[in-house]
Amino acid sequence: MKVLKFGGTSVGSAERMRALPALIQGSEPRIVVLSAMSGTTNALVNIAKLLFEGETTAATYQTEILRQHYLIVARELLTEPEVAAEAITHLDSAFKTIFNLTRHPLSASGERVILAQGELLSTLLFHRYYTRMLGQEAVLLPALDFMRLDKNDEPDGDYIEKHLAQALAPHAGQPLFITQGYICRNANGDIDNLKRGGSDYSASLIGAAAHAEEIQIWTDIDGLHNNDPRVVEGTYPIRELSFDEAAELAYFGAKILHPSSILPAAKHGIPVRLLNTMQPEAPGTLISTQTGDEAIKAVAAKDGLVAIKIKSSRMLLAHGFLRSVFEVFERYRTPIDMITTSEVAVSLTIDDSTHLAEILEELRSFGSVEVDEQQTIVCLVGNLIQENNGSAWLVFNALKDIPLRMISYGGSPNNISILIHTSHKQRALQALNEGLFQQRAVAP
Ligand code: ADP
Ligand code: ASP
Ligand code: MG
Repeated sequence: MKVLKFGGTSVGSAERMRALPALIQGSEPRIVVLSAMSGTTNALVNIAKLLFEGETTAATYQTEILRQHYLIVARELLTEPEVAAEAITHLDSAFKTIFNLTRHPLSASGERVILAQGELLSTLLFHRYYTRMLGQEAVLLPALDFMRLDKNDEPDGDYIEKHLAQALAPHAGQPLFITQGYICRNANGDIDNLKRGGSDYSASLIGAAAHAEEIQIWTDIDGLHNNDPRVVEGTYPIRELSFDEAAELAYFGAKILHPSSILPAAKHGIPVRLLNTMQPEAPGTLISTQTGDEAIKAVAAKDGLVAIKIKSSRMLLAHGFLRSVFEVFERYRTPIDMITTSEVAVSLTIDDSTHLAEILEELRSFGSVEVDEQQTIVCLVGNLIQENNGSAWLVFNALKDIPLRMISYGGSPNNISILIHTSHKQRALQALNEGLFQQRAVAP
């Protein structure tokens, strides 16, 4: 079994959907995981936002605009009028779900139902096209039957494995399954999702559950680049990354992958290939247990962090202080991303500031507390084993004109993290590109 995930741009128009069949051919069975068509989830987020703000007329209007867009795509893709008409009946029932939710004040669970429609629509259209227009065999598997969160809102691997197997069982010998990325049910059985960009995570979870031999993430770029191509010019794709390196880059901002998406594949040792639907012949990036031996391979940056410094003379020569600090974050279920300590102070960063006020209140009982918002972690990933000396020098030399708030080195053999103010991000990424990767960028 192989799992192939296609992102928003890869299914973003009738033309893009027509290009998929050529990419999903193969002798072994496949599960194709689709995102919503590009722009759809943003439009649904906006509709929900308007409803939360009480802007019902605007929300209804935006829903109708989206519906008209889908009617056009359906007619363009499904050129047999009878096939189009059938699909439009299904499209209309998805839109009716949204229109019905505009009639009453929107709840959080209503919002999640709205957000789920994008993947339901894209898979419906592609499945109809593949089976009815091309006459090929494929089974549409409803992700809501097997993708599940546990009571901690984490994917429930055992449930997913068992229920995916049950969903596949009646279709022995089927060459192709099509399912939705991103959407799932939560522990209460209500419709939920894996957060923005979550279709990558779906693909990895499905790959792990199906014991797939490979997971392919098809997107609009030729693999994971050495730096953020949205911010820096002259980036290039990295051919090979280890699971750990890719997981760090995904977690620390490489948008090509959902932050958690490498973990299920890594746990089961399933290689992940990042490929470009616009350039299918390009080798892309292979993520596996193997890696190249460059000291620094790539840089990613994650915005929206808050740095907190707790200064206390109680820390001096004391034990148990850090534990008390960490317990505060644990109580509020707030992960810490980066940490540095001195004998009298500890600085750490969080990216979830939901409980910031309560956390600060508790931390003040330990000593003085300083908070810096709008921070960005710049994460450098590679083979940073001690023997590869000189890498840190290259990094700090490149960043000599940038004020650095925190530095973390040695936490793992493949990461150096640096905290800067977000306003310096572009300059920092550009400087790192020039200082670390320029020769490679010229001659990859
Ligand atoms: P999809 O809709 O297929 O999931 P995404 O937009 O989520 O695609 O991810 C692909 C985009 O990620 C690229 O177009 C690129 O702009 C962005 N990106 C950010 N950092 C990186 C990186 N290090 N390597 C490759 N792409 C990156
Ligand atoms: N459609 C969802 C989003 O836009 C999930 C995904 O595309 O990965 O976030
Ligand atoms: Mg994505």
